[in-house]
Amino acid sequence: MNRVSLLSCALLTLFLTGCNQSDTATTKEIYAMDTVMQLTAYGASAQNALDEAESQLLALENAISRTRPTSQVSAINTGTGAVEADDVVVELLRSALDYSHATNGAFECTIAPVVDIWGFTTDDPSVPSAEDLSIAMGFVGSEFVTITDNSICVEPGSAIDLGGIAKGYAAQVVADVFQQQGISNAMVSLGGNVYVCGGRTDGDPWRIGVQDPNNLSGFAGVLSLSDGFAVTSGAYQRYFEEDGVTYHHIIDPQTGYPAQSGLISVTIVSTTDGTLCDALSTALYVMGEADAIDFWRSGVYDFDMILVTDDGRVVVSSGIADQFEADGAYTYEVIS
Ligand code: AMP
Ligand code: MG
Repeated sequence: MNRVSLLSCALLTLFLTGCNQSDTATTKEIYAMDTVMQLTAYGASAQNALDEAESQLLALENAISRTRPTSQVSAINTGTGAVEADDVVVELLRSALDYSHATNGAFECTIAPVVDIWGFTTDDPSVPSAEDLSIAMGFVGSEFVTITDNSICVEPGSAIDLGGIAKGYAAQVVADVFQQQGISNAMVSLGGNVYVCGGRTDGDPWRIGVQDPNNLSGFAGVLSLSDGFAVTSGAYQRYFEEDGVTYHHIIDPQTGYPAQSGLISVTIVSTTDGTLCDALSTALYVMGEADAIDFWRSGVYDFDMILVTDDGRVVVSSGIADQFEADGAYTYEVIS
């Protein structure tokens, strides 16, 4: 019996208790991109900003959803020829391909045929046969995607899946709307893809709980952040069980199987780039601890990270070490 768990609304939790907030919060909850999105903004233009953010989020979902037959991504994925796509789709796909290159294929947006063969986009996922998996793996690779200006073409059989990057990009879209509307204090969680700005109105930073993968009602630690993005990837976010074995949704593109990297959760933190956070949370989960640390140390991208390992450690990069309090159940390590 398969069991699918969709816990995407509770990946990171924003603490609001004891805020002593001086202004009244304006909030909006939206269901989009297969997840619950919670947006809170303060100040006179908050309602306008939230309305505009909602309309942009729904437009983005319309364009990139893989499960909506009418979306541009669905049209691209028919593999029947070039599709003239909106700027937003081109920009996101170009970013995805860049991250694939930069992470040596750990992030791979052409993983769609493999995600499909596992049935992760359906209500009834199951372990594929080795033969079906091998056929699907043959269609994975950036070389099967061509972008010329706004025209996007994938080879028949190949397909793109922007699910590993889209919510971080969406957080960036919301951040841009808030900036244009002059919002000075806000916090947003798009299914655990968090964006905060301005700190709380009492001057303290926002407090972001990083969910404990071993105890989903608890936290592996709490991050204090005034401005920026924090995005988590974890096996516990979407999985099913078959014959007593648990299979999760983050695929190692080298094997076609759920990544078994020794990491059980990866949170990426950046002050400026939500898209980067989302792409790298997925990629570093696939890479595992040693390669993730090497990647962080390489300095190719400016970010910080919180890695939760399957042997009970929380490994935090030095840039946010003094903003993070680990839960006592974990051994806390800082890397520099
Ligand atoms: P995230 O929660 O951001 O780590 O994204 C996971 C989602 O991205 C999955 O549900 C798939 O749709 C897709 N995905 C799975 N494995 C990969 C991968 N190695 N690279 C890019 N996207 C992936
Ligand atoms: Mg991701």
